[in-house]
Amino acid sequence: MSWFKGTYPSRAEMRRELKAYLDAVHKTKKHIARTQVLLNDLWKQARSRPFVDVWPLLDAMNDVTELGSIKGTSVKSAFRRRILLLQENRCCYCRRWLVNTAYAKPIEHILPRRHYPQFSIEFWNMAVSCYDCNSAKTDDVWGSISTTSRRYPKAQEFTAAFHPRFHRYDDHVHYLRMETNSSTVVLFTGLTPQGQHLCRSLLHRIAAKEALIRNNVVLEAAISQIRSFEAKAEGLSLARLDAFRAALDQSLMRLLE
Ligand SMILES: [Zn+2]
Repeated sequence: MSWFKGTYPSRAEMRRELKAYLDAVHKTKKHIARTQVLLNDLWKQARSRPFVDVWPLLDAMNDVTELGSIKGTSVKSAFRRRILLLQENRCCYCRRWLVNTAYAKPIEHILPRRHYPQFSIEFWNMAVSCYDCNSAKTDDVWGSISTTSRRYPKAQEFTAAFHPRFHRYDDHVHYLRMETNSSTVVLFTGLTPQGQHLCRSLLHRIAAKEALIRNNVVLEAAISQIRSFEAKAEGLSLARLDAFRAALDQSLMRLLE
C-alpha cells in the first residue's frame, strides 16, 4: 500500500499528505495551532542564510503559554506516529518491524543534517528507521542534489540514491528473510540504480550484522537486554547506553569489513 499512485507523488498528493500531518501535529487538540506556528518558525530559521541545523532546538523545545507547555519530544512523537502509519510500522530501509521501544525508532534525516542543515526540519526529508540503519547509514552519495539550495528537491531529482518518502520500496528493493531455529539469513536485491545503491551502501552491511548477531545466542541476548534498558533510561544513563552501543556497533562493523 502506498500513499501515492504514480511512480512519484504528485503535488496534489503531497499537499494532501502534508495537511494530514499538520492536522495531527500534536496529540492534544488545543496544542495543534501553536505547534504549527512553532514548526513553521523553526522551518524558516533552518532556511535563512547561513543555514541552521534546528534539530537540536526542537529537541530542547519547551514552549509555555497559558494553554500549557509543548515539548519537542511530543512533536517528534506525533511525527513518528504519522510516518509509521505510512511505513506500515517498518524501518524505511531494511523493512524490519519497528515494534520495540520508542528509542529504537529514530527519526532519520534522508539528506543528512550535516550537509543539508536547511532541511533539518523539512517534512519530506524525514522518515523513521531502525536504530541499526540510522547509525550505519553513511552520508555520501547524493548525486547532483545541491547543498546550497533552499528548495527541497523534487522526487524526480533523486536519481542516485533511494528516498524513502518519494520512492516506493517495492519498486526499488526486494528482500528475503529466512529464519530457522538457530540462524537467520537476509538477502537484499536492488532493482533500480537507487535500490542498488541502497544495497551497496547500507543493506548488505545490515544483513551481515543481523546474521552475526542472530547467529550468536549470547550476543543476541545481550543486545536485547540493552534495548529493554533503553525503554526506561533517561538523560545521562541513556547517553551512556548509546555510547556503549555505538562502540559495540563499530566493533561489529569492523569485524564485517
Ligand atoms: Zn532498518
